[in-house]
Amino acid sequence: MQELKNIMRNFGIVGAGGAGFPSYAKLAEGANLLLINGSECEPLLYTDYVILKNEMTMVLSGISEVLSHTGIPKALLAVKSHTAKMLGLWDGEKLAEKIYVRELPDVYPIGDEVSLIYESTGRQIKPGKLPISEGVIVYNVETMYNLARAVRFGEPITKKWLTVGGAIDNPTVIKVPIGAKISDIFKKLGIEIRDGYTVLDGGPSMGKVINPTTYSVTKTTKGILILPNDTEAIRARTVSVKMAVARAETACCQCTRCTDMCPRFLLGYPLEPHKMVRTAMGAATVMPEMVISATLCCGCGICESLSCSQGISPRAVIENYKSLLAKNKLRFNLDGDYNVRGERDYRMIPYKKWMSALGVTKFDKIADYGGEINDFSRVEIPLSSHIGAPSVPSVIDGDTVKAGDLIAKAADGLSLPQHASVDGTVTLGINKIIIDKVR
Ligand code: SF4
Ligand code: SF4
Repeated sequence: MQELKNIMRNFGIVGAGGAGFPSYAKLAEGANLLLINGSECEPLLYTDYVILKNEMTMVLSGISEVLSHTGIPKALLAVKSHTAKMLGLWDGEKLAEKIYVRELPDVYPIGDEVSLIYESTGRQIKPGKLPISEGVIVYNVETMYNLARAVRFGEPITKKWLTVGGAIDNPTVIKVPIGAKISDIFKKLGIEIRDGYTVLDGGPSMGKVINPTTYSVTKTTKGILILPNDTEAIRARTVSVKMAVARAETACCQCTRCTDMCPRFLLGYPLEPHKMVRTAMGAATVMPEMVISATLCCGCGICESLSCSQGISPRAVIENYKSLLAKNKLRFNLDGDYNVRGERDYRMIPYKKWMSALGVTKFDKIADYGGEINDFSRVEIPLSSHIGAPSVPSVIDGDTVKAGDLIAKAADGLSLPQHASVDGTVTLGINKIIIDKVR
């Protein structure tokens, strides 16, 4: 296991689609199941689908590496039903020694680790606990692809697969160097951003609004979407905390629908968004323990984009509480009986209904692989695209580097190194390393 940890750490491998948890830190004794998340929970993203379609052998090779180094007896590749159909896979199919397909229902939010594990295995991760508490380690499809390349070719992570989609004619999945500027990618693809449109890093449910002229591809960029401002997806992503709190305090009729539909509540978690919006922000600031269950929210957005008829954003209020709790270093750690609720089966949100709630149905076109784009004159590699301490530069201004060279070491504790994604000359920026390509 230590050898695998070293590989993952030295090659900078990080959860490729989520918050950026360093992959080595997930490896722990006691696991009896490896679950590979290929559910591609977010609408309009086809990155994992394209990787599976084009690079299944490498993905399976990465999975086998984890199994052989850890002694975990079995792996499940979890994909949604519609993805399974497109790839010609079926539930229970054996893909390689000890690796099987797990077909998931087409519902949202199935990619959330807690939902994914329950739906794939029937195991319930207790509130505040990690998947390993139930013997499960979860990795993303792309993480397994990256691991296989690290083991086979000694390649660190320098490239990223991502969907470019939304309100454009031809959504595509491309592979680009980490640090490539989004506006440069748009230029190469002939995409113009018109007034009235917003760009997201990530999907329409949980992506974040970015400025394409200053934002660069990170190790966790799964997709870049361009969406009209009048879609619910963009409204929900741009509501200010001040407005969210004001609406919550004045317009909530306490109908409880946000709680009734909350996937974490339905999994038995003590998270009740209707109570969160009723809690005065001032009181929570003085006594943050009273909103401790906010840390159990996965940020899916169902409470704001589907449940609430009053235009309230419980998610935005809860996000604010999460920041408050993080500042006070408070985590949920209350033991108790948390049983999955019987009504869960009838309250799952069909994927198509979720797309419709976000106003993005008409933009859903299956993307195919558009190839690798490497010709960028400059890349800007962030020192902190992972959870934990930022990487520490090991180069200085004016150094010349080759793609794959180490440019920043992992800091002490939870951290990862960074590697050059193109050949060029280095300039140290604030929280990033800039590389200008040699011409
Ligand atoms: S759904 Fe809206 S109105 Fe109903 S309890 Fe939740 S926040 Fe309040
Ligand atoms: S965003 Fe809302 S619906 Fe989703 S988990 Fe959090 S509270 Fe529940």
